[in-house]
Amino acid sequence: MKRTEKVLLIYTGGTIGMGRNPETGALEPLDLTHLVNLLPEFHYIRTGVDVYQFEPIIDSSDMNPELWAQLVRIISERYELYDGFVILHGTDTMAYTASALSFMLENLTKPVILTGSQLPLGQLRTDGKENLLTSIELASQHNPDGTPIAPEVSIYFNGALLRGNRSTKQNADGFDAFDSFNYPHLCDSGVNFTFHRHNILKPDFSKPMTPHLEMDCNIIVFSLFPGIQEPAVKHVLEAPGLRSIVMRTYGSGNAPHAPWMTKLLKEASASGVCIVNISQCISGSVEMSRYDTGYQLQDAGVVSGLDSTVEAAIAKLMHLQARYDDYAIIRKMMTMSLAGEITI
Ligand code: ASP
Repeated sequence: MKRTEKVLLIYTGGTIGMGRNPETGALEPLDLTHLVNLLPEFHYIRTGVDVYQFEPIIDSSDMNPELWAQLVRIISERYELYDGFVILHGTDTMAYTASALSFMLENLTKPVILTGSQLPLGQLRTDGKENLLTSIELASQHNPDGTPIAPEVSIYFNGALLRGNRSTKQNADGFDAFDSFNYPHLCDSGVNFTFHRHNILKPDFSKPMTPHLEMDCNIIVFSLFPGIQEPAVKHVLEAPGLRSIVMRTYGSGNAPHAPWMTKLLKEASASGVCIVNISQCISGSVEMSRYDTGYQLQDAGVVSGLDSTVEAAIAKLMHLQARYDDYAIIRKMMTMSLAGEITI
């Protein structure tokens, strides 16, 4: 594989590049020129780094599918010019963006690494410097034949390279902001990089990467809780234009026995709404045949989300809904692994 010895750094925003507003004291996004000035080590990185800055730079709470499409466009239009891509992104929605990109960049043959930080680069104890510099190094790691070692969408944070669509933000203040509870690390970074190659996706290097720009957002997530009321569930299931529901169930995918619940789910499913069962537990898998309270969901037409994260299930549904009108295809593909997002 031909190497370019260059990585593209795409700056979308997030804490890593923020500074304090002198009037309000709140953190707000700053220009990247400022960010590079704060990091003299930037000039010593061996691989070439070009920078693309979002306009405007955003807090990741403002991330959305149009901006995901913009990221896909930026990457696909420059795909041959770089060995890999590093995206600086706020931590709040990083796992959603990583999940979305994993489906939107089909047969990805280069690393796309998202990173950010809990403390801005300008602060003394910042975690941003290590996260940023290591991500750039990781994006340029390659095999003797020139193929990249980690050609997939990943998140690098606090010493670990994680599969993007398996990651979840787990800590609002600790430097260990992310983990992938249902999938082992792709690489651990200490004095050396320890790649766990058997965990890393192996794309077909002879085929092109196919970008997908469209997402269909007619989805809702609802969480079960003891005491949930029929009118609220009915209201959700009958929302106009709704195509899918991510239902957050108990334990291994269980829901209350109440006949109204089964009836509403059955009706929604029969009318072509895809209901995906994702557990409220952060690790483990949905197994609807384990308890009777799960079995009745299967009977009502609910699809198992297996060990998917909520972020990955949402992004995958948006992607599949944009590609297929047929509800049966979407249901079927939810139980297939498209980018390593579920364990089959
Ligand atoms: N609110 C910030 C963001 O997601 C938090 C961060 O970057 O850690 O943009």
